Amino acid sequence: MSASEGVSSAAAAGGILTIGVDAVVANWKSLAARVAPARTAAVVKADAYGLGAAPLVRPLYDAGCRDFFVIVLSEAEALRPLLPPDATIYVLNGLLPGTAAAYGNGILPVLNSIAQCRAWAEASRGDRPSVIQVDTGMSRLGLDTAEQQMLADDPGLLAATGARLIMSHLACADEPSKSASGEQLAAFRAARERLPGLPGSLAASSGIFLGADYHFDLTRPGASLYGIETSPLAEGVKPVVDLRVKVAQIREIETGTSVGYGYTFRASRTTRLATLATGYADGWWRRFSNGAGAAYHGDTRLPSVGRVSMDSFSVDISALPAGTLAEGDLLELIGPHQSADDLARSAGTIGYEVLTSLGRRYHRVYR
Ligand SMILES: *Cc1c(COP(=O)(O)O)cnc(C)c1O
Repeated sequence: MSASEGVSSAAAAGGILTIGVDAVVANWKSLAARVAPARTAAVVKADAYGLGAAPLVRPLYDAGCRDFFVIVLSEAEALRPLLPPDATIYVLNGLLPGTAAAYGNGILPVLNSIAQCRAWAEASRGDRPSVIQVDTGMSRLGLDTAEQQMLADDPGLLAATGARLIMSHLACADEPSKSASGEQLAAFRAARERLPGLPGSLAASSGIFLGADYHFDLTRPGASLYGIETSPLAEGVKPVVDLRVKVAQIREIETGTSVGYGYTFRASRTTRLATLATGYADGWWRRFSNGAGAAYHGDTRLPSVGRVSMDSFSVDISALPAGTLAEGDLLELIGPHQSADDLARSAGTIGYEVLTSLGRRYHRVYR
């Protein structure tokens, strides 16, 4: 990101997004220790949930991670040069038609149907490794029971897939009181009996906290690496993201004056406002309008007033002594006082969605 000559991109940006690389690595290590001797992968899809995969994969590798999961081939190809040859990158969305030739060099397709198994077997004849995904209840991706049996009944086909891992995904691991995870666990065990001899992988972040029965040979955390609390059982997850945005303008409005699009806020007293330099184009959602989101100055909560615009929103700073803030000062949006999970709760969503929405206009610092 280059600003005009002589002006740093930090000075020119509306906000500073700091990503704690050390915290991501610490989260990975803590999960790896929890599940050992099972291995722990890193799910770095969607540009590491919006935080930037490129600066993170090598530190994760250096901490001992050898397995990286993405969704599409282009993500795998972008990360491949950043990782040593003994790291494996798995493409979760499966073998899309016309892509078989691109695999190899430690990039493995996840085969999600018997048709994909056949296409891959035809293209690689056992010379290139792959992963078999089985559906254990989520009805999203993976071979259903009948397809698993077809594969089991055709040892030549199974061998030609070069399968080196069998995986599935849990739908309700973040709700430990539901019986669904136990049912999926049983279905996964049955699939492993049908297709014996393959290492297994079932748990993502919240599945890890369901206990050792769910760990098998490889776990696949994503969100908990990035500081999201994915489950009521989650523990030891360190915050990773710190977002501060700049005060673009300070003003005082009289009683009866309105704020923002639609005039949805009307001052009932003289009110001091700061207009902050971020909006829904930066992932600061319109759902954070009128008190659903806030900024913090030290410990002081500054509630949003009016609607969030595309590029800015306003907060009520009347609680701060006059003169406390000046244009260009930074206020906390995500940090010690307000986590991505807190914001998600106030907007009726999950922390995953808050993180993956974080915009590209922030100056990014990797620490
Ligand atoms: C996204 C994803 C993960 C990681 O899930 P988290 O809840 O973020 O830990 C693991 N496995 C699959 C198949 C996924 O799609």
